Amino acid sequence: MIGVAAAQLGYRIHVYAPDSGPANDIAFAHSRGAYDDIAALRAFAAQVDVVTYEFENIAAAPIEALGDKVRPSARSLAIAQDRVREKSFVEQLGGRPARWAKVADRAALDAAIAGVGCPAVLKTTRFGYDGKGQARLLSPADADAAWRAIGDGPAILEAFVDFDHEFSVVLARGTDGTVATYPAPENVHKAGILDTSSVPAPAIEPWRAEAEALAARVADALDHVGVLTLEFFCGADGAVFNEMAPRVHNSGHWTIEGSETSQFENHVRAVLGLPLGSVAMTATRAEMTNLIGDDADQWEALLAESGAHLHLYGKHEARPGRKMGHVTRIER
Ligand code: AMP
Repeated sequence: MIGVAAAQLGYRIHVYAPDSGPANDIAFAHSRGAYDDIAALRAFAAQVDVVTYEFENIAAAPIEALGDKVRPSARSLAIAQDRVREKSFVEQLGGRPARWAKVADRAALDAAIAGVGCPAVLKTTRFGYDGKGQARLLSPADADAAWRAIGDGPAILEAFVDFDHEFSVVLARGTDGTVATYPAPENVHKAGILDTSSVPAPAIEPWRAEAEALAARVADALDHVGVLTLEFFCGADGAVFNEMAPRVHNSGHWTIEGSETSQFENHVRAVLGLPLGSVAMTATRAEMTNLIGDDADQWEALLAESGAHLHLYGKHEARPGRKMGHVTRIER
């Protein structure tokens, strides 16, 4: 989707990945290499003007070796991909995560349970996504099973938040520090995976301004260039920071049809040093629904539905839990 937005502005994209994936279908060129192969990454970077990334489960050091060509910087990546650094960074800027503790090994888990309490969620420090690398503890008796379930840490233990709603702040920040913040969507997850994102989201309105201000402080403190996303829980505990992503986000997919400038186009504009586009809505309401696993089989009915915009990612195998596409329903 970043590549499609870049092509629309007349740019050619060159994909670097270890395997061939859907992005290759729309790319001008692609290079195959491991994400930590510095020589291969340098050879690739020599052929392009700007390097960006669309997921954060890659090591930051090899990306840092590419220097200023990489936007957002390797620092944004290094902080956002590590739950300990991420939460500490956001706390320093006045954000409020759920009560949490670092869990370096199995012995530290018992101390963390005593401090954080139960129910709680044990999360791997790095490389978790879509609810993977997480285990819930209803009581201290679940400690062994949770530790095994996440594959022996390192991890963090986080208090379970009894939230009313979840939402995210998706913003784009340009090379000149200009920030454009999209209307915040309410997000509903099923089994740890995003199901729907909808705007406008009146239910989250009491917490929106505080969350947007925090997201802008985080973007400025990182000197972030590109799209940045912060996720929140909200309810009786206020706006509780969950996590951030230094990239375009699934909860921003509705912007393709629902906003004057999509998150993908604004990401491209930002990393290329171009002025950002308007983030105003083009619709009165937009709702994005992920098509997970077999959901994508409904494609024919979705094509026939008025106001529905179908996106299929061209992934060959529909495994359970795999995001195969999404549909955005627009009300004008
Ligand atoms: P994450 O990958 O950390 O965003 O977690 C995926 C989803 O699991 C979240 O969007 C929530 O729906 C749920 N979740 C994660 N952490 C917590 C928590 N501390 N309390 C309650 N629900 C959580």
